Amino acid sequence: MTATAETHRFQAEVSQVLHLVINSLYSNKEIFLRELVSNASDALDKLRYRALTDHDLRGDDALEIRVSADGVAHTVTIADNGIGMTRDELVKNLGTVAHSGSRAFVEALADASAGKPQLIGQFGVGFYSAFLVADRVEVLTRPAEGGEDGWLWTSDGRDGFTIEPAPRATRGTTITLHLKEDQHALSSPWQLSSLISRYSDYVGYPILLEEEKYAPPVEGEEPKVEKAWRQVNKGTALWQRAKSDLSDDDYAEFYKHLTHDWEPPLARTHFTIEGRQLFTSVLFVPGKAPFNLYSNDQQHGVRLYVKRVFIMDDCRELLPTFLRFVRGVVDSDDLPLNVSRELLQDSAIVQSIKKHLTKRVFDMLDETAKERPEDYAKLWDQFGAVLKEGLHTNPENKDRLAPLLRFRSTREKDGWVSLADYKARMPEGQKAIYYVIGESVAAAAASPHLEALDKRGYETLLLTDPIDEWAIGALEEFDELPLTSAMGAELDVAEAAADGEEKPSDETPPPALQTLIERFEAVLGDRVEGVKMSKRLTTSAACLVVPEGGHHAHMERLLKATQPGYAGGKRILELNGDHALVKDLERLAGAGESPELAEWIEVVYAQAGLAEGILPAEPNRFVQSVTRLLTEAAHAKAAAATEAPPA
Ligand code: ADP
Repeated sequence: MTATAETHRFQAEVSQVLHLVINSLYSNKEIFLRELVSNASDALDKLRYRALTDHDLRGDDALEIRVSADGVAHTVTIADNGIGMTRDELVKNLGTVAHSGSRAFVEALADASAGKPQLIGQFGVGFYSAFLVADRVEVLTRPAEGGEDGWLWTSDGRDGFTIEPAPRATRGTTITLHLKEDQHALSSPWQLSSLISRYSDYVGYPILLEEEKYAPPVEGEEPKVEKAWRQVNKGTALWQRAKSDLSDDDYAEFYKHLTHDWEPPLARTHFTIEGRQLFTSVLFVPGKAPFNLYSNDQQHGVRLYVKRVFIMDDCRELLPTFLRFVRGVVDSDDLPLNVSRELLQDSAIVQSIKKHLTKRVFDMLDETAKERPEDYAKLWDQFGAVLKEGLHTNPENKDRLAPLLRFRSTREKDGWVSLADYKARMPEGQKAIYYVIGESVAAAAASPHLEALDKRGYETLLLTDPIDEWAIGALEEFDELPLTSAMGAELDVAEAAADGEEKPSDETPPPALQTLIERFEAVLGDRVEGVKMSKRLTTSAACLVVPEGGHHAHMERLLKATQPGYAGGKRILELNGDHALVKDLERLAGAGESPELAEWIEVVYAQAGLAEGILPAEPNRFVQSVTRLLTEAAHAKAAAATEAPPA
C-alpha cells in the first residue's frame, strides 16, 4: 500500500453478501470465472453502446477479453478493454450494494436460514464470487471517458478495500486474483480453457487465453517456452448462431449470464423473424419466480440489442406485463441505434416486435404444456398467477390464455386440471363449468355450495388464488361453456340437473318454511340481502350465496382493504327445507315466539359464514351461544347415560 492509498470499509450489506457467497457457494467455486467474464462482456457492451454517439471513445482496437494465469505467482487475470470505471464508480460498484431492490433482497437473505444457493442465485453474486477462490483481488481500471487516470482497487474480501492511483496504458479493466492456497490448481491454462468452454462459450466477444507453447528444442540449449494467445470461444453472440450448432448447455449458460439465475430455465425458444421486420430473439421461462415478481421495482423485460449492439436491459416495452417473467434477448435490425425508452413507447416497430414475441411465448407455453406436462405444472406453480392477470389486462389474448389455465378441482385436489380436460370428462347433461372460491383447497372442497353438484357427479373447480375471482370474471366462458359460480344466487341447479332426474321445483316454499324464513329475515335484518329456500343443499342446513352481480370473498376482502368505508356486500342466506334442524326450527317458529329461536338463527347464520371462512361479526357471542347449546345437549346426554336403570 502506498502513501496515496485510501482505505474504505465495505457497506454492511456487502459484508453480508460476501459472507453468504463464501458460505453458500463453496461447492460451486468455479463459477467465479463465468461471473467475471460476464462482467467483462457487459463492460464491452457498454463501451460499444457509448461509442455510437462518441466515436473517439472506441479507437480501432478489437473488443476482447483476455484471460491468463501465472503458475508461479498463483494468479489468474481477466482483462477487458471495455468501459472501465472512474474512481467514484469503483467505490460505488465494488463497495456497496447500490440497487434498492438488491438491498431488500440481501436483508431477506440474511433473515432466511443462512446461505441458500437457490436464493442467492436470484441475486447474482457477480464480482464478489472472486473471493470464492482468491484471498486477495486487485482491480486495475481506467475509464473510457474522463481522462487518463487509472485506479487500483485491492481487497482481501474481509472488511474493506483500498484505492490508489495507478497507471494503465489503455481503457478497460484488469482483475487479478491471488488464489487461495487450496485453489492453486486453477492457475493452469488447461483448467481455465475448460472452464471458459463450459461456462462462457456464448459470449459475443473473443475470449483469448494465454497458453504456453514449447519451441522446438535446440541442442545444447534449455527448452524454451513461448507464450501465445488462443481464442477459446466462438466469439459470436449466441442468438446469431444456428440452432443446430447449440446445445442445451450452451443455452443454459447463456441464460445464467443474462439472469444470474442458478437453476436452468423451464422452457426456451430461439427464432428469427424475417419479412417486413428483421429480428432475432431467444426467450426463456425461468425455473423459479423472482422474489420481487409482484413489486414495482422488479427488473423485468428482455435485453434489447440493435444490430448486435447492446442497447438496454429490462426493456419492458417488448412484452405485455403479464409476461414479465420471461427473460431473454431481442436483437432488431430495424430500430435505430440511438433508440431511447421514450422512443420505444410509441414505435410501430416495437409494437410489431411485441406482437411477434407474445405469439412466440404462447407457442412456447403451449408446447411445454403439451410435450412436458410436468415442467408445465412447475411453470404454472411459479407463474400461473401472473399469467392469469392477462385475462383482464390483455383480453385480446384470452383465446390463447384460456387453454393454458390450470385449476385445482374436486377431482384434482393436488394436481391441475385444464378447462379442456374438465370439459372432456363432463357427464352428459352438464351445461356449465362450475367453480367455488375459497381460502384453501380443503375449505373450498368442503363448501356446502357443492352439494347438489357433487350429487350429480359434476366436477367443480376450486379457486383459492386471490386473483382468481377477478380473472375468471374476465374469462366468462370457455369453448361455449359458461363459467358459473356454485356460490352464486343464479346457480340454476334445475338447469344443471340431468335429464330424467327429479328436478327441484321452483315453487314458493311451503307455509311452515315461509314462516321460518320470515323469522330469519326479522332477526338478521339488513345483514342479508334476503333469506330463501335452497335448491342446492343436500346435507348442510344453510349456506350463504352471492347475489347476482355481487362479489365473492376474495374480492370483498380486496374492496375492504382498498376502499375505506366499504361496508361489504350482502349475501343471501339459503335454508335447506329437508334438513332435520330446519324442520324443527319450522315447528318452533310455527308455535310462536320463543326466546331461543332468535339465538339459534344467529348460530345458523354464523355457521353458514364459517363454512367458507368468514368469521362471525361477534365471535365471542357466537362462542357463548354454541357453548350454551353444547352444555344443554351434554347435560341431557349425561343424564340419560347415568340414569339408573329401572329396578
Ligand atoms: P452486476 O454485474 O450484477 O451489476 P457485480 O457485483 O458483478 O454486479 O458488479 C458490480 C458493478 O461493477 C457492475 O454493475 C459494473 O458496473 C461494475 N463492473 C464489474 N466488473 C466490471 C468490468 N470488468 N468493467 C467495468 N465495470 C465493471
